[in-house]
Amino acid sequence: MMITLNTLGKDLIMKVLFNRLDRGYYKYKSEFDEAALRVLASGWYTLGAEVENFEENFASFTGMEYCVGMNSGLDALVLAIRALNIGEGDEVLVPANTYIATILAITENGATPVYVEPDEYYNMNPDDIHSKITRRTKAILVVHLFGQSARMDVIANIAKEKDLYLIEDCAQAHGSEYRGKMIGTWGDINCFSFYPTKNMGAFGDAGAVVTNDPKLNEKLRMLRNYGSKIKYHHEILGVNSRLDEIQAALLNVRLKHYSDIFIERNQIAERYLIGINNPLIIKPIKQPNTTHAWHLFVVRVKNRDKFAEYLLKHDIHTQIHYPVLPYLNDAYKHLEIGKGTCPVAEKLADEIISLPIYEGMTLEESNHVIQVVNEYKGE
Ligand SMILES: *Cc1c(COP(=O)(O)O)cnc(C)c1O
Repeated sequence: MMITLNTLGKDLIMKVLFNRLDRGYYKYKSEFDEAALRVLASGWYTLGAEVENFEENFASFTGMEYCVGMNSGLDALVLAIRALNIGEGDEVLVPANTYIATILAITENGATPVYVEPDEYYNMNPDDIHSKITRRTKAILVVHLFGQSARMDVIANIAKEKDLYLIEDCAQAHGSEYRGKMIGTWGDINCFSFYPTKNMGAFGDAGAVVTNDPKLNEKLRMLRNYGSKIKYHHEILGVNSRLDEIQAALLNVRLKHYSDIFIERNQIAERYLIGINNPLIIKPIKQPNTTHAWHLFVVRVKNRDKFAEYLLKHDIHTQIHYPVLPYLNDAYKHLEIGKGTCPVAEKLADEIISLPIYEGMTLEESNHVIQVVNEYKGE
């Protein structure tokens, strides 16, 4: 039976959670159910036909030669760096403002992160790269934060000119393009996450890398499966980062519908961009020559905590991506990178707040967010 808005009641309609992963499931329920049940009945549960099928489909979606399925976005990043032989004594340029996974992938390999400031689109600022390059710099690890591509033409040129590897963290920006070229196609190895809340979400943990290099493809396949090509023969030290068959089968369904999902998020973001007109709220800027995946809709406001409290009082849930920069987290205390290292990123972390945006968000819900945001009066 269809649930109509009337049967839900006004109170329920107007509570806007930060995310509603069930909505994305119900939209394609019969296809997801069929895929999961097919795998259960198959008797084969990891690295099989479903994974191969997804790898092929995802490679062709990005336009890259090879895709290697992995256990998570973090594993994809860790193994990408390992496959390039980046480790102890090497430096990797990385945005100061990113999810900690990007940084962990560097330190997990024994390499040193060197932090680059964000630009007005919250992505790695190409103008801050040159001064941070040293003799030890081996790679640029760029993140397409919140769903929008970094300025990849400039960054790719710097990497080429300085003979650095280029790695992309595409966890938040599946399918977005910069100057007509999709993210995930600029770097040597490019990493994706399919964590459930990502735009192309699995129903558990999953990730992948894409590359055009056959040698890297082969090495990444070994790394994810205990360093072996032939069962029980281990050429290199590997890990277990296999992608399972159920996740791959479910991801094939998500991938099939992804262009609709991409458009839907853009429609919600467009409503926000047009509808929100409170001078206390700084809206995100869409970069020219970019298609935006709108993983997150991040605004800036002076007294952020007060704004979050106000929204919550009106039953609108928000999150902060991210309240503390990775290098200022306790986990990295030992590296002694203090406050003031990247002042632009640090200021940003104090002002940003993410409004709800998700697959299946209703017009009533986004209108409610717009109305309540516009009625905010500050102090
Ligand atoms: C989610 C995310 C990751 C990590 O992906 P997991 O699948 O959760 O391991 C890495 N980088 C960024 C920018 C992310 O948003």
